[in-house]
Amino acid sequence: MNKLPPVIAIDGPSGVGKGTIGRLLAQNLNWHFLDSGALYRVLSLAAQQHDVALDNEQALEVLAAHLDVQFKTEKMGVRARVILEGVDVTDVIRTELQGTAASKVSQFLGVRNALLNRQKDFRQAPGLVAEGRDMGTVVFPDAELKLFLIASAEERAERRYRQLKEKGLNVKLADLVIEIAERDLRDQSRAVAPLKPAADSVLLDTTGLNIDEVMIRVKAEVERKLGFEVVSL
Ligand code: C5P
Repeated sequence: MNKLPPVIAIDGPSGVGKGTIGRLLAQNLNWHFLDSGALYRVLSLAAQQHDVALDNEQALEVLAAHLDVQFKTEKMGVRARVILEGVDVTDVIRTELQGTAASKVSQFLGVRNALLNRQKDFRQAPGLVAEGRDMGTVVFPDAELKLFLIASAEERAERRYRQLKEKGLNVKLADLVIEIAERDLRDQSRAVAPLKPAADSVLLDTTGLNIDEVMIRVKAEVERKLGFEVVSL
């Protein structure tokens, strides 16, 4: 039997550091990386550009099925440029506004199904680190390791604040706290693929931990579950 390449699924709420940790891990392992949220962000941007309302399920489904998106990767997909219909939208999709729009279009089953195979296609040798909301529950239920990261809402808002500021975006912490709380609630309470830990996931509370401290714990889980040491590059 052909065994599929291994997957490490990293799920959790907004601003918990899944992207940072996932990219670092993929880099250290020299594996591919999937930022599944980018797909939903690109879809909501495409909807806005094509005048499709964010609650028009049928039109969104068609758009998702035909989405002309490319991830232009330099090194195994860790640092990918996101290209929508030939235009580089890597930075445009990162705003909190686009995050909120993404969480609206991601509620629909047809939309999620239309994007499912694109996500599964990222599973290439030697392995894949995939981050999102339903990596361990829906997209890669057979993942070798499933991590579910959590952190206090305040800390997540502060992390996101610093991240967006570094990118030169003008944001207010108080606004972020509200936006993140609303987005989490929508992601957790939706009927399809809600944000929740898989039964066999490892819960990791990162409140009060810096990136290095989180990585030490993540690497320990990789060693425990996959049986090999993660060497920092
Ligand atoms: O992770 P990111 O903030 O880029 O995700 C944007 C939105 O896309 C999330 O709030 C969520 O609604 C949606 N999403 C999802 N499933 C995923 C990844 C993201 O529904 N696997």
